Amino acid sequence: MSSTATPRIVIIGAGIVGVNLADELAQRGHTNVLVIDQGPLGLPGGSTSHAPGVVYSTNPSKTMAEFAQATIQKLSSLTLPDGRSCFNAVTGIEVATTPERLHDLQRRAGWNRSWGIEAHIIDSTECVRRHPLLDPDVVLGGLLTPTDGLALAVDANHILVERTRAQGVEYRDRTTVTGIEQQGGRVTAVLAGEERFPADIVVSCAGFWGPTIAKMAGVPIPLLPLAHQYVKTTPLASLRGKNAGPSGASLPVIRHQDRSLYFREWGDQIGIGSYAHDPIPVDLDTLPRYTPDEITHDRMPSSLPFTPEDFVPEWEASRVLMPELRDTEIAGGFNGIFSFTPDGGSLVGESRHLNGFFMAEAVWVTHGVGVARALAEVLTQGYSETDLSVCDPNRFEKVQTTPEYVEQTSRQNYIEIYDILHPLRPVWHHAMCVSAPSISSSRRSAPCVLRGPLGNDPTGTRRTPRCSQSCHRSGRHPIAKPGPRSFTPPSRPLRPGELAPRSRCTI
Ligand SMILES: Cc1cc2nc3c(=O)[nH]c(=O)nc-3n(C[C@H](O)[C@H](O)[C@H](O)COP(=O)(O)OP(=O)(O)OC[C@H]3O[C@@H](n4cnc5c(N)ncnc54)[C@H](O)[C@@H]3O)c2cc1C
Repeated sequence: MSSTATPRIVIIGAGIVGVNLADELAQRGHTNVLVIDQGPLGLPGGSTSHAPGVVYSTNPSKTMAEFAQATIQKLSSLTLPDGRSCFNAVTGIEVATTPERLHDLQRRAGWNRSWGIEAHIIDSTECVRRHPLLDPDVVLGGLLTPTDGLALAVDANHILVERTRAQGVEYRDRTTVTGIEQQGGRVTAVLAGEERFPADIVVSCAGFWGPTIAKMAGVPIPLLPLAHQYVKTTPLASLRGKNAGPSGASLPVIRHQDRSLYFREWGDQIGIGSYAHDPIPVDLDTLPRYTPDEITHDRMPSSLPFTPEDFVPEWEASRVLMPELRDTEIAGGFNGIFSFTPDGGSLVGESRHLNGFFMAEAVWVTHGVGVARALAEVLTQGYSETDLSVCDPNRFEKVQTTPEYVEQTSRQNYIEIYDILHPLRPVWHHAMCVSAPSISSSRRSAPCVLRGPLGNDPTGTRRTPRCSQSCHRSGRHPIAKPGPRSFTPPSRPLRPGELAPRSRCTI
């Protein structure tokens, strides 16, 4: 342990997670903390620096729903100098444009009610009353979550940096971590070029740079950096003068999961995020390199140039959902980078491979505060009030941390993020397929038995996974990217009976 009375905690990364972790530690009286970031503190250039901040609490996991609620509550309590809160509670609506989705929204409403989150199924008329841009002939109904809305993550971080600095937390920006020093199986310091920062505990909050930090520490951090499309439209006549400032918003945030899209207002423009394109894995060695002084809202390492050809069908789908968008064009867009993991979950806790090395990776803005709070509890009292088993970074078998497995399964999670799936459905991967004894005699035509993290199929079903290209759902094929596809699509779509376990999830 370092010479100070309390353990020295060094946090790598000053995004929503790192800064909130510093704040949660300080709130618990632990201020022997140093936060290091390679970018400038005002806008470090990670995913938080450009995230549109949409917060949806709905989640099959109670833990994740609690994390989102923690984010909403804390950001709501942070006030900007102009009096605005760091959480804009515009409400959230997940719209259904197919009967299957409408049915699934009932299940999702059930999750929310189970976790104590207010949720209502509303009809088409009510959806359009609350969000007049929606086409009543397209929307069948929606799931209204009144407490959802928009996080002002960058603004919140500014407040928290000031607050924690005043309490004694130290920050070093414009400093790139290059190594993790260890001795006898414990972390001892964080290295940045010639500089050495002694540490009893290191927490990697480096976002999609997690794998880079993992290599330095010699521990697996199984996540895949992926690019995700985000655009803004030209101004809409009906929104002119309605919202204060270019980031103002008052209409509910919309999830259009039947087309893997989500929407929010930006002043008189609409912002649209799309998961509909094929996954675009990012090689961290090829990221744009900017000096800290070069980082701006339009130029940051987490933002790649927009690829308009990938957005063509989604632009049309957006205009079908919101007909006024036919009077607009795409004003600009980017392919932002964030993290996906083999099972879609976050990675929160201490690595079993290196004492004192913790991580809080693959965390969305939505869950950022809750994750930081839970980890601060672990670090200061030895346990978290929230069940962290779904985020345990050690939950993967060795094969599940190999680059090939991480890439293929993370891609699949990206494709399926808004699909109607059983929450315990294991991710399919050919390396994990085994043949069940009962099907050994018909091996050639037998479907795979899927393995979850525990080596079996937690849904208790035996089935061939559905097409990873989502073609059966939308009736269209996603845009093909150069290079081989990672998955062999199954030979058939799921039969209705195979969906049965899902209905049991609504309590
Ligand atoms: C286009 C897009 C839209 C999104 N929309 C939403 C949304 O609406 N809602 C939502 O909840 N989430 C959204 N996300 C996801 C969300 O932005 C991220 O999951 C979240 O911001 C991650 O926060 P973080 O603190 O973990 O990482 P980051 O914000 O990426 O912070 C990591 C920090 O670590 C620093 N760092 C990395 N390596 C080093 C090193 N070697 N030395 C020093 N510092 C280092 C980086 O500079 C960076 O500042 C979106 C992401 C994208 C790309």
